[in-house]
Amino acid sequence: MTQHPIRSPTAALLTPVGRAAVAVIRVSGSWLADEERGRTVFQPVNHRELREQPLQRLIYGRWGWSTPEEVVVCRTAEDVIEIQCHGGEAAVKRILSDLGELGVETVSAAEQRRCATDALDAELQSALSQALTWRTADLLNEQCRGVLRTACERLLNVSWTAAGREEAAALVDQVLVWANFGLHLTTPWSVVLTGRPNVGKSSLINALLGFRRAIVSEQPGTTRDVVTSITALEGWPIQLADTAGLRETEEVLEAAGIARARERLATADLRVVLVDIGEPPAPEDFQLLEDWPTAVVVGHKCDRPDAWGSDLPERALRVSSVAQIGLEELQQQIADALAPEVPAPGTPVPVTSRQVDCLRQMRRALDGPGESAYREASRTLVFG
Ligand code: GDP
Repeated sequence: MTQHPIRSPTAALLTPVGRAAVAVIRVSGSWLADEERGRTVFQPVNHRELREQPLQRLIYGRWGWSTPEEVVVCRTAEDVIEIQCHGGEAAVKRILSDLGELGVETVSAAEQRRCATDALDAELQSALSQALTWRTADLLNEQCRGVLRTACERLLNVSWTAAGREEAAALVDQVLVWANFGLHLTTPWSVVLTGRPNVGKSSLINALLGFRRAIVSEQPGTTRDVVTSITALEGWPIQLADTAGLRETEEVLEAAGIARARERLATADLRVVLVDIGEPPAPEDFQLLEDWPTAVVVGHKCDRPDAWGSDLPERALRVSSVAQIGLEELQQQIADALAPEVPAPGTPVPVTSRQVDCLRQMRRALDGPGESAYREASRTLVFG
């Protein structure tokens, strides 16, 4: 995303069109103090120039070159003012027309916000609008309120001394720790269930989702392809994938499903290996447990008599989808495995892969003699 190189001044009506007690017009971009006419259109009763008025203070005054209108103006940022005037349409029209004469274009409030924000803000706002759960929305909202920006601005202004570089490297590392976590605030974590055909993968997904989504069948190999559903576990958005039974087969259709299942397994954020503890263990079960040593292990169908005994790994959770046993513990274990730590309040978290890429470039530049590469990447991080 490119930043608008010159921000031409804009005016936007923030309050709804129509009659009301008060209307608010926001003017964004340096304009009032630029030329004589601009300076005279608003006459504050305290006679101070607008650019000298303190931020966030209400300034009472008169608006217009002829038959002035009473207004209250507030400088809400360095080059942003809000004009509060009479809510009737005439007052709004007149102020916007005066502003037009000063070269201030009238735009919608949404458009004005788009033009006034930089890449970082635009991305954070967009990420917040994509939040899938309250928990992720809370975390994104905190970043939107300036936590990530403060860190980025520190990085932008770092001095290229040994101490400055050391401080920047520590801060970049601290932010990058949360890269994977931050990207999953908008993109669900991918969790793949695997196990022999008929072990109960579809049933377990249905049980986790709380409704029937996958097709459950007595015939091995019925779930031929990858079936995915998005849900939230402990407030984290999660895409559950139910894969074709992983076994050697001659059947072409099922082989394609198996290939897709293998790929999904390899790229998943987390794997859940299911074994049927109502059936004696088979070599494929041991193979899966060996292939995925960090997977969450489910001893499924624990409502049936245990045919595994001491063969069942100690870390296995005993679960029954039919009898609804162990489902809460399983959800908790999945959530803990995906996000073992949550950033403390005030921790900067990058939320897009573009931000993560910029931070990585900055980190590389810090290790070398790359001041210009560092500056470029840090500017890109904020301004796009
Ligand atoms: P998949 O091939 O791994 O997806 O297995 P399914 O979910 O289709 O289930 C296969 C069979 O196991 C079905 O008849 C289910 O009703 C049965 N099943 C699934 N979960 C359980 C369970 O927790 N306990 C028992 N006793 N049977 C189950």
